[in-house]
Amino acid sequence: MNLRNCSRCGKMFNYVAGPTICEPCKKAAEEDFQKVKQYIAENPHASLKQISEDNEVTTKQIQQWIREERLMFSKDSPIQLLCENCGEPITTGRFCAKCKTNMANTLNNSFARPQQALQKPEKKEPKAGMRFLDT
Ligand SMILES: [Zn+2]
Ligand SMILES: [Zn+2]
Repeated sequence: MNLRNCSRCGKMFNYVAGPTICEPCKKAAEEDFQKVKQYIAENPHASLKQISEDNEVTTKQIQQWIREERLMFSKDSPIQLLCENCGEPITTGRFCAKCKTNMANTLNNSFARPQQALQKPEKKEPKAGMRFLDT
């Protein structure tokens, strides 16, 4: 048994895996999400505050769904999301497509780099400091 407190309702529950949230809350959160998603489709011009009030979900929860790229907003929505890296307007998530690609590349490179460094043969020439000692 792995008992934890649900991050949503605070009740103890038998934790298995994933987010620290109990089964009833997981279901309720999913229902909230579907409700909000539907609401945004029907009210593309609703503000974050409006969505939060009309659906009785916290703005924090909505923002979390946005970060998880589960909610999308149209370009003319009052909810303006900006790429956290370059400030470009985006419709979901935290970064624009360009930055996401760049970050994926950087990630790959940083994985590849240590290996490349290891494969590089050691330089045979004496170091500048040593040459100075010889003369
Ligand atoms: Zn709960
Ligand atoms: Zn960007």
